[in-house]
Amino acid sequence: MPSGRVHNLINIAAYSVLSAAALVLSRQELLTITPVQALNFTLAFAAGTFLLSPDLDLADGHVNSKRYWGWLGFLWVPYGKLFKHRGLSHSWVLGPLTRLAYLALLITLIVGVLRSAVPDLILPTIPQPISLKFILPLVLGYYLSQWLHLIADGIRPDHGFRHSAKQLQARQVKVRRLRARRR
Ligand SMILES: [Zn+2]
Repeated sequence: MPSGRVHNLINIAAYSVLSAAALVLSRQELLTITPVQALNFTLAFAAGTFLLSPDLDLADGHVNSKRYWGWLGFLWVPYGKLFKHRGLSHSWVLGPLTRLAYLALLITLIVGVLRSAVPDLILPTIPQPISLKFILPLVLGYYLSQWLHLIADGIRPDHGFRHSAKQLQARQVKVRRLRARRR
């Protein structure tokens, strides 16, 4: 399994290659990317690489991705306890969503505490409506950073399905055995 440092290097290398390719394509007018879209992609890719790595499922111990949160790293300990290493957290579609959902929960809790402590507190709001052109680079950047991690870990896209299929199979075998015993 690659270390956190190796994962970072792989992602940085992939980002460099992609940026160069995007630059060449937009110079030849084959691709149009606005500066905001480029920034969104970069921010989401960096967040996915450094702050929301799949290896946060190890956050109940010492792990690189927890360290990037500084003193806030302890906030990820429950996530590490909740998710088995390389289980659902390392699946291609749901895995990245578990970290976003957990982060949303953390933010909701923190905002709730802040609001009750300081009722007149003015917090930044998200401008509405958000266009697809704004969101898409964020989603792409985040998911790409996650998938590069999973590829480096040698995890296939059907990881989650295979995992649940195996569990289902084991359960069916158990039921069959129980039934056979009853006969
Ligand atoms: Zn991993």
